[in-house]
Parts: sequence; structure tokens; C-alpha cells
Amino acid sequence: MTENRVVEDRLGRGLDDLRISVIDRCNFRCTFCMPADQTYTFLPRREILTFEELTRIAIIFVELGVRKIRLTGGEPLLRRELERLVAMLKAIPGLEDLALTTNGFLLKDQARTLADAGLDRVTVSVESLDQEVFGKINGLGMPIAKVLEGIDAAVDAGLGPVKINTVVMRGVNDHEIVSIARYFKERRCIVRFIEFMDVGNLNEWQAENVLDARTIMGRIGAELPMEPLRRERPSDVALRYRYLDDGVEVGAIASITEPFCGDCTRARVSSEGRLYTCLFANQGTDMKDLLRGGVTDDDLRKRIAAVWRSRADRYSELRNDRLASGQLFSEPKVEMFRIGG
Ligand code: SAM
Ligand code: SF4
Ligand code: SF4
Repeated sequence: MTENRVVEDRLGRGLDDLRISVIDRCNFRCTFCMPADQTYTFLPRREILTFEELTRIAIIFVELGVRKIRLTGGEPLLRRELERLVAMLKAIPGLEDLALTTNGFLLKDQARTLADAGLDRVTVSVESLDQEVFGKINGLGMPIAKVLEGIDAAVDAGLGPVKINTVVMRGVNDHEIVSIARYFKERRCIVRFIEFMDVGNLNEWQAENVLDARTIMGRIGAELPMEPLRRERPSDVALRYRYLDDGVEVGAIASITEPFCGDCTRARVSSEGRLYTCLFANQGTDMKDLLRGGVTDDDLRKRIAAVWRSRADRYSELRNDRLASGQLFSEPKVEMFRIGG
């Protein structure tokens, strides 16, 4: 075990990074995440962890080594008074980085308040700049213009460098890769192109719809010259590049074609308080009942540490074997909008 590691899993991975899903509801119905033609039962309010409960959990995670927390959802900006949670988490000693992933629709009105409360950074998901394509992808015809205004507001509020997540689906939005790269380069935002993943059970994922990260970066590099950047930390999961003319960073996340399970140091807490040690897990560990049943901090810490120590997840590395044997969807997985990406 390295000196500053508090816990290590069965494959020798530490616990550095926590994602908290603050709500399972969303104002979009992205085809790759929660398609519009499904019915969803969202959690009743009392089933969702309170800010006090989330903060209590977060403090323990920081004691166990976590340095970065990212708030996600569903759509986190739908959670009322989110800035109050931001301020509570920001006050945790030892936490170095507090970020948020959002679809950006409500960001224009909230960026300044969140920044003032202590949020360090935002990532905004943008799959297309073309209203027709964007409206289809988000399932509800929601306007891209409002998302772009939200991004500008986040830049102005100092929530940066603002990152952009773009899930690339072959035949759906891959023709826009270079224009998306160019648009955000001009605004000095860091785009991360993400290989379409087989998360959840609803998105009808097919391997043929994945455009691999190397091809994505090759297409951009052919128009906008760039050079590779070295990884800053082993837990950096992106292939990172820098444009030669202005130094703006751009990258891709090759979760399908170049899985990075060996460096995966991330835990996830769903909105109903289940702890997941893999994005593709089908079962989490319930923490809500523990919290509401009067568990002591010491026992909660021991429980979380035990879950991490018993972890051996490496779903993405095993995916190719599963694909070959046709077993990819044999077990139900947690949905992306519950666990938050
Ligand atoms: N609603 C927020 C948003 O869209 O940014 C936060 C939650 S969303 C589940 C978090 C991230 O997961 C988004 O960047 C989204 O693009 C990504 N995501 C969802 N489904 C995905 C999939 N099938 N493959 C890859 N990324 C996906
Ligand atoms: Fe909502 Fe985000 Fe999922 Fe789209 S990707 S449906 S915005 S949770
Ligand atoms: Fe981590 Fe699971 Fe993704 Fe592998 S598949 S990188 S273990 S979340």
C-alpha cells in the first residue's frame, strides 16, 4: 500500500474520487441514457438522501482518501438549493476539487450562485450544436441555445476551465465532431469526446454505433493540429491532446476500446444512497438504511472501507470477452441516470 492510501481494493486500486448523484430525475430524455419511449418511476423525495446525509457520507469518503467529488444526476440542477450542498461539501477539510456534471439547461441562472457557494468546476454535456440533431438526441426538442448560454455563464462565473462531454454515436452525431471541437476551442473549453457506452439496460447499445476514440481524435487532428499530452495522474482516464496554435486541451475517453479499469479509483453514490464500485454494477450497497438506522461514523467508515477492500470490478476489461460470447446484457445493470456517469 502506498503511504497516503487509506484503503486499497483487491486489485491494488486506491479510493481517490467520488461521484454523488443528487437526484434521479432529469429534464432531458437522451436516447443514450434514458430514452423517451420508456416509463420511469422516480424516487419519492423521502428516498433521496438529504444534504446532511450526503455530507456525512462525503466526510467519511474524504477520510478514506477521496480528494475529488463530482455532483451528478439525473440532472443535478433540478435539485432544489443545490448551492447549499455545494457549500457544505466545500467546507470538508482535505477535499481538493468539487465539480458538477450537468446538461446545462438550467446553468445560466445557477452558475454564479454555485460558484459563489464554492463549486470549482463544471462539465456540460453537449452532443450536437445543430438544433435538429440536439433536439432528437435529448428526446424532447430542448434548445441547444439555452445550453450554450449556460456554458458562457459558467465561463464568466469562473467555473473553469469548463469541460464539455460529448458522447459520440456513429451515424447520429459523428459528422459534428470537428465543428464541436472548433466551437469550444474558440471558447477555451476542454472537450472530452466519449465513446458510446453500454451502460444501463435501455439504450439499445450496439458495438457498431461506437466510434473509437483514436478515430475521433484523428479526424480532429487532421483539421486542427494537436500534440498528445502526458497523463497527470494514473486516474486520468482521458487521452489528452493540446492544439498547437492556442494550447487549448481536447481529449477522448476510450472506455470501450481502451478500458482503464486498472486505474479506476472511483466510487459512486446513487441518489437513494447506494454505493457502487463500478459504473456497470448491478447491485450497490445500501447506505440509507444504515444512516437512518443510527449508524455511528466509525461503523459507517468501516462498512465503506470493507466494500472498497472487497472490490474487484473490471467490467470494461471483460466486455470484449462477453461480447464474443454474446453475454453482454445477461445481467441487469444500474441505470446511468441513477448512478450519474
Ligand atoms: N444530466 C447530467 C448530464 O447529462 O451531464 C449528468 C448526468 S449524465 C448521466 C452524466 C454523463 O453521462 C453525461 O456526460 C452523459 O453524456 C454521460 N452518458 C450518459 N449515457 C451515456 C452512454 N451511454 N455512454 C457514454 N456516456 C453516457
Ligand atoms: Fe438526463 Fe444527463 Fe441522462 Fe441526458 S445524459 S438523460 S441530461 S441524465
Ligand atoms: Fe471502473 Fe467499472 Fe468503468 Fe472499469 S468498468 S473503469 S471498474 S467503472
